[in-house]
This record gives sequence, structure tokens and C-alpha cells, in this order.
Amino acid sequence: MKDSASVLSSQPAYVDSGDVVNFINGQVAESGSQRKQAVYNPSTGEVSRHVVLSTVEDVNTAVAAAKAAAPAWADTPPLRRSRILNRFLGLMNQHTDELAAMITAEHGKVFTDAQGEVARGIDIIEFACGIPQLLKGDFTEQVSNGIDNWTMRQPLGVVAGITPFNFPCMVPCWMFPVAIAAGNTFILKPSERDPSAALFMARLLKEAGLPDGVFNVVQGDKTVVDALLEHQDVAALSFVGSTPIAQYIYERGAHFGKRVQALGGAKNHMVIMPDANIERTIDALVGAAYGSAGERCMAISVAVLVGDVGKKIIPALIERAKTLKVKDGMYLDAEMGPVVTKEAQQRIENYIGIGVEEGAELLVDGRSFTVPGNENGFYVGGTLFDNVTPDMRIYKEEIFGPVLACVHVNDLGEAVDLVNRHEFGNGVSCFTSDGHTAREFSRRIQVGMVGINVPIPVPMAWHGFGGWKRSLFGDTHSYGEEGVRFYTKQKSVMQRWPEDITKGNEFVMPTMS
Ligand code: NAD
Repeated sequence: MKDSASVLSSQPAYVDSGDVVNFINGQVAESGSQRKQAVYNPSTGEVSRHVVLSTVEDVNTAVAAAKAAAPAWADTPPLRRSRILNRFLGLMNQHTDELAAMITAEHGKVFTDAQGEVARGIDIIEFACGIPQLLKGDFTEQVSNGIDNWTMRQPLGVVAGITPFNFPCMVPCWMFPVAIAAGNTFILKPSERDPSAALFMARLLKEAGLPDGVFNVVQGDKTVVDALLEHQDVAALSFVGSTPIAQYIYERGAHFGKRVQALGGAKNHMVIMPDANIERTIDALVGAAYGSAGERCMAISVAVLVGDVGKKIIPALIERAKTLKVKDGMYLDAEMGPVVTKEAQQRIENYIGIGVEEGAELLVDGRSFTVPGNENGFYVGGTLFDNVTPDMRIYKEEIFGPVLACVHVNDLGEAVDLVNRHEFGNGVSCFTSDGHTAREFSRRIQVGMVGINVPIPVPMAWHGFGGWKRSLFGDTHSYGEEGVRFYTKQKSVMQRWPEDITKGNEFVMPTMS
């Protein structure tokens, strides 16, 4: 691992100083759009670049390129597709630090966390390299005399991904490696707040030997998203972002007859039982609540303190929240960087004010937090509320910042009911030293991803990622075998090779007896 100074002093291979533009048909493509949006360095609050907000024509050009490339790519043997992805995997490993530095510069998360993000993205590329095995299909010999039946999975054609700001490398990697490995061509619409990582990866894919048109990036906002939703040549859309937009994408996509998976927002609880190992729980909770400034869809934003465990936890939480090392994420000792934009900073500070008005007890106030030398950066300090109740907006709504709300309940049953009543069901964790409690919790909880003594249970590449309730609209989770199913359609073939197939007309429903 390089230190931050050497990363900063080395010029990344593919970082341009100009506007962030599109990547269509194997090359960097300017847009005809006059609309641009500023990309900030959240640590300093300064504009570093601009990203082009593409037009419907740009989308049409990208879809046409992806459509033209689709038949040959679908025909390419899975093993050859996998070999190209293997070369891409090597390049991603080689360029991890440049990518991580780029993420820190546009998102604000600390450099080591950005390295972790890239590593988790790389996990999915590794998984996608196993596509020959994943596409094997199944086969039944002799379903009737002289007849065999098998199923195979074929690509959908042109598919698109729309991704959020909080993981500009990892979340696109939940989608495109699997989609491409399965034989589709892909259009990525990254977040306009940190768009450079997508362009960087597009160039690495080209360097790896991916044929032109198989992977395309169209930068922009709602105009691009709507054009992808409406385009008749886009077969499927994967979305990750906030719940209102996820629902919109799911409904509009269905209207236009597309396959859609739309992952939405979250409010993740950590249930802390009185028998939990207190030191380990505190370490885990502080990291999960304040890591990446709370801008993770799996961040813990509610601590559910069971019985009298609050007495043991709260004093330490106050101390830790007050002493977090909050600074420019390129310092290797930084524990928390800024939030992504000024608007995000204001939204989070506004929620802290709402919590106070609602009667929650503000133990640590992260408003008006400044970092010496970076006074214009978008910082919010670690914030801690106690005595939060389920009717409060700061409990119900996703704040997406470094704000932890503590709720008290009497026992495990109350804790499970509380979590199950919440509209979101992305991630949850339970800290306990009792196996029976752990087992009952895992079985009864209505949440898609569960951690037992694991604060952020993001499933590994081959298990698939997805929440329940209003955290996911659609039938399949992201990546893993569910991802392969999402990006392929099943075909069943039944075949007979008799020497003489003429038996006259058959009017009866065929049976295998
Ligand atoms: P967002 O919903 O604002 O944006 C996501 C994407 O949708 C972006 O590409 C954006 O350009 C586009 N978009 C925004 N408004 C749109 C509109 N009106 N019409 C069409 N497209 C639109 O989300 P964000 O702020 O970038 O990311 C944070 C959110 O993402 C949080 O709610 C977080 O919980 C969620 N998230 C969820 C997961 C998950 O796996 N469930 C993972 C990461 C992030």
C-alpha cells in the first residue's frame, strides 16, 4: 500500500484535467450538451472539474454502439469473455491506488476506505471471471424415449446501470462485470457528483481488450436516466440509489417492459444485547456509524440498546464521537472525511436541528464543524443522539451522514419488532454472545442482510447483495448468482432425433409417460 504522499505525487495514468465526458464505442466522446455540473473536492470545498450532463442524443449514440456490439459479444465464448475480464482484473489491481485517490478527491471518504471500496469491487470482477462455470445450464437425458431437455441462459442484449455517489467504483462493479461476462453490452450512468472513476474503468476495460461498444459511459442526470428508461433497445436496468428514485425507476422501467432491479435507501439498526462484548461492540459501532461519514447504504444509523446495556455503551460512544479524527481523507490517520457536497452538509445539519426539536437528547453535536486549513470543506462532525423514539423523523428517515441515533428497548422481542416495523430493510446486525439469541434474531428479522457480531454484513461477491422492503424494488439481488440470473434469460430446449419423426398429427398435450 502506498502512503498518501506518494499517491498524491504520482500522476494517475488516466486522470485528465478537463471536463469529465462520455466513453462511447471504445473512445472518449465529447457531448453536444451545453449543460455541465461542477465536481467538487469535498475536503476543500473547491470545484475541481466539471462533468458534462449529456443529452438524449448522447444516450441514443451509446445505445446504438452497444446494440451494434451485442451480437458478436454474445457469440464470443464465455471463456474468451472471461479472459478479457481477467486482464481487466489485473489492471484494476495495478491501479487500485490511483482509483482510490480519485474517489477520495471527489467523494471525500478516507483513502484507506476508498482502497477497500476498490478491493470489494475487484471481488466481483473475480467472481465474474468464473462465468463459464456460472453459465453451465442443466441437462436431463431421456425425458422421454429419444428426447433430451436442457436449459441454458442467454444474454439480454443492451443493459444499463445507474449508480449512486457513495461507491463510484464498487457499485458499478456490482453490475457491469457480471453483465458483460454474461454476454451483454453495457451503458453506465454514474453519479454526476463523482464521475471520474467510471471513465477510468472504461479505459482500463479498453486496455484489457474489451471490444468497442461493449462498455459505454454516459455522464449526466435525470435526462440521461429517462432516455435509458424509455429507449426500446435497452432490455434491463440496474439501479442503486435513494428509495424515491429506485421506486420511480422500477415503475417506469416496468411501464416500458424492462427488467429492473432497483436498490434503494436504508436505516440500518445494530441491536446490542446486554451479553455483548462491550469493547468489541463499541469499536464496531463507531466504525459502522461514522466510517465514510455515514454515507454507506450499510452504515449503522440506529443503535438499539437492549436492557441496561446503554449505561455501558453511551459514555464510551460520547468520547469516541468527540475525538474522531476528521480531516482530508488523504491523510492516512484520518478516520472520517467530509460529506460529499455542501447540500449534503446542510441536509444533515438540518436533520440534527429536527432531532433537537423533536426532543431527542443531543449528546454530541457535529454541526458547524471546521477543519483547520480546510474551512470551506463540507465537514460534519460525528453526531450522537440518545433517547430517540420511533415516531421521530430522525429515526424514520435516512439522514445519510455521521449521525447515530440510540433507541432503548427492554428485550430482544421488542428489538426485533422495532426493526421489523421500519420501512427499510437493507442491513441489520446483532451483537451478542449467546448462540440462541443469534439464531432467533437471524430467523425472525425482516431484513435482507444480517450480521451477527459483524456490523456491516456486505455479502461476498458470490452471495449477492440486496435489502428487503423499501430497500429493494425487484426480484433479484445484485451480483452473485442472482446477478447472473438478472442479466440472462432462460431458454429451454427439448430435442428428439428419431430416424423417422413422422407419426401423423399429434393433437394431445405431449406427456413424458
Ligand atoms: P440518488 O438517488 O440521488 O442518485 C442515484 C442515481 O440516480 C444517480 O446516478 C443520479 O444521477 C440519479 N438520479 C437522481 N435523481 C434522479 C431523478 N429524479 N430521476 C432519475 N434519476 C435520478 O442517490 P445518491 O444520493 O447518489 O446516493 C445515496 C443513496 O443511495 C442513499 O439513499 C443510499 O442508501 C442509497 N444506496 C443504496 C445502496 C443499496 O445497495 N441499497 C447502495 C448504495 C447507495
